[in-house]
Amino acid sequence: MKTILEIKHRLFTGIRNQIQLILFVITMATGFQFYLYVLQAMGTNPITVPRPEGVEGFLPIGALMSWKYFIFSGQWDTVHPASMAFLGFAILISFLLRKSFCSWFCPIGTFSEWVWKIGEFRRGKNYQLPVWLDIPFRSVKYFLLGFFIYIIFQMSVADIEVFLRSPYYRIADVKMLHFFTKMTSITAFVLLALVVLSFFTRNFWCRYACPYGALLGISAFFSPSQIQRNPETCINCDRCNQACPYHLPVNKKKLLYSLECSGCMDCIHVCPSKNTLGLKIRGLKMSIHKVQLGFLIMTIFLSMIYFSKISGHWESNISDPEFRMLLRMMDSSEIVHPSVNLKKGTS
Ligand code: SF4
Ligand code: SF4
Repeated sequence: MKTILEIKHRLFTGIRNQIQLILFVITMATGFQFYLYVLQAMGTNPITVPRPEGVEGFLPIGALMSWKYFIFSGQWDTVHPASMAFLGFAILISFLLRKSFCSWFCPIGTFSEWVWKIGEFRRGKNYQLPVWLDIPFRSVKYFLLGFFIYIIFQMSVADIEVFLRSPYYRIADVKMLHFFTKMTSITAFVLLALVVLSFFTRNFWCRYACPYGALLGISAFFSPSQIQRNPETCINCDRCNQACPYHLPVNKKKLLYSLECSGCMDCIHVCPSKNTLGLKIRGLKMSIHKVQLGFLIMTIFLSMIYFSKISGHWESNISDPEFRMLLRMMDSSEIVHPSVNLKKGTS
């Protein structure tokens, strides 16, 4: 009982952990509603479960393509419009407030954090890879990001248009759902390995492999906000870098520019010396308090949803009958990745 209470305290105390929990529950509920919607659409009875809003947030690669298409054609994707809104929001808050999307919003980041905190609680510590392994491993996520960006950048606007209008893209969200509900043994093995590795190492997936986090880190590199340390009042206790989920050298820097800093504020929370550490915006003297940061992030998030909705850039244009028809064709040769058709056309 004491153990459960202690774990509960570690995982769910404080504004950031509570926001993470709420958003994690909303994400799971959205995924489950979509699962029910797909299940009904596969049958013949009328669909009573509505398509959940924002389910397109799970399609980041489609969102990257749609943004390129929007930049060159001026047209917003109408098939999965919320994916663009989510990506735009994630990049914006990462630019304004470090990589805060990762530590305040992302359900995968939240789950990872729960796993390493439980691991730390059970074993009394986490393990850090030696520097000679840590640095090359950290670059994996940038290679993955570079790979996706290369693929998207070499696609012409016309090719992207073909992709965005293809039946394949119209049910890309179902394919994403099947990634979890019809998991192959390889997928299950990889996911299990990531959970086990996260148990021993803080934020294993985020630190080494997440291309989305890599993109947000690059955005955060240009951010006007940084963790700042006052060396005159610092007592060199090292608690800040021990608390940092990315083991950043907060205790040695005056200004922390790291691409990895996720704006979690854990370093500030543990610092025993008053007014020594703070998240500051360049040019402003005052620090942003953790509660203010949470309020700011949530305000930007809810505003993004509100303005996307009222401007008609949120809901998918796929009707229930069309969705049902696409599902029936899903395993046919008519619904294949457009690159297959492009290759056939050129061969
Ligand atoms: S603990 Fe501090 S330095 Fe480390 S990620 Fe969080 S905010 Fe950034
Ligand atoms: S926790 Fe605060 S006092 Fe301790 S090393 Fe970090 S900045 Fe200095």
